[in-house]
Amino acid sequence: MTSGDCVFCAIVAGKIPAQIVADYGDILVIRDIAPKAPTHCLIMPKKHYHDLTACTEDDASLLGQLLLSAKKLSQSLPGIQSFRLVVNTGKDSGQSVFHVHAHFLSGKKMVDL
Ligand code: AMP
Repeated sequence: MTSGDCVFCAIVAGKIPAQIVADYGDILVIRDIAPKAPTHCLIMPKKHYHDLTACTEDDASLLGQLLLSAKKLSQSLPGIQSFRLVVNTGKDSGQSVFHVHAHFLSGKKMVDL
């Protein structure tokens, strides 16, 4: 399922440009267009989900792949010692693109949560 007005679906479909960092099959990694850290990538399933609450038990393997993609990414990018993953879910969390994604942030000391 894709959403016609979803910017990440358009990136997955190659309809709008993005800096692709890795393609792990069902998972795509791109550079964030407005980075909040020296390394700021977005890890997303190619399949459209509005947000994490749209995922079900059937998506457990895909969500596991998403987490493991962060590990793979940390091993493939140079100089990654630590990283933070953030999955904003819902408007008040700061989610602005409604296609499930994890922010992969690294390269600076993170402030406490
Ligand atoms: P969130 O606010 O958690 O939904 O995160 C959405 C992220 O997508 C933001 O950090 C934006 O900077 C980023 N973003 C929006 N449009 C694009 C785009 N076309 N290419 C890359 N990153 C984008």
